[in-house]
Amino acid sequence: MKIETLFIDLDDTLYDRNNGLWEAIRGRMSRYMHECIGLPEQEIPALRRHYFETYGTTLKGLQIHHKVDADEYLAYVHDLPLRDFISPDPQLKSLLASIPQPKWILTNANASHAQNVLNILEVRELFSGIIDIHALDFHCKPEPEAFQIAMKIASQTDAAHCLYLDDSPFNLAPAKEMGMTTVLIGNAPSPAAHLVISHIYDLKQAFPELWDHRDQDSERSNG
Ligand SMILES: [Mg+2]
Repeated sequence: MKIETLFIDLDDTLYDRNNGLWEAIRGRMSRYMHECIGLPEQEIPALRRHYFETYGTTLKGLQIHHKVDADEYLAYVHDLPLRDFISPDPQLKSLLASIPQPKWILTNANASHAQNVLNILEVRELFSGIIDIHALDFHCKPEPEAFQIAMKIASQTDAAHCLYLDDSPFNLAPAKEMGMTTVLIGNAPSPAAHLVISHIYDLKQAFPELWDHRDQDSERSNG
């Protein structure tokens, strides 16, 4: 199936998930829950896990159960020295630049965090746009609505023409169900993923068809 549109998750997908940034964000989430909402510290890890498994994100659980303001929360949890964790990535840049199809960031974070990450990695201009939690109208992944909204924003009507990369099998599952080709950035196979690669760098080797189409098309138009 010809891929026309790519949706790519941001955190732990575009950069090495072992760099400590996600742990730092998670630490800020816990701190927010303790300091700003007043939840007992010892209950927070189980509660966060419960919200994640039930609603897809901690934020969604906090909105439902604690009337948390999303913007305030997202600003708080992402208030970190990002350059301590990530830096310009020429290899990522050349990979993304070589992919002919439009690429969209699809994230449950907010656009300002996504902008900051993309600017540090020096890949912002290689994306057609950022589909963030606001653009998703707070239908965060893995809600099927999130993918429907994303396709609408990308002017793509057929899920079968979409490739979706994420480090979360939870997020991939509904996308696969809808007909997207799903790529897990991880180490273990998952029924939610057509392909598993340990780093986004490996995409070219794992899914060369993405580039083949361009060659076939250009051969066709040249021939
Ligand atoms: Mg992620």
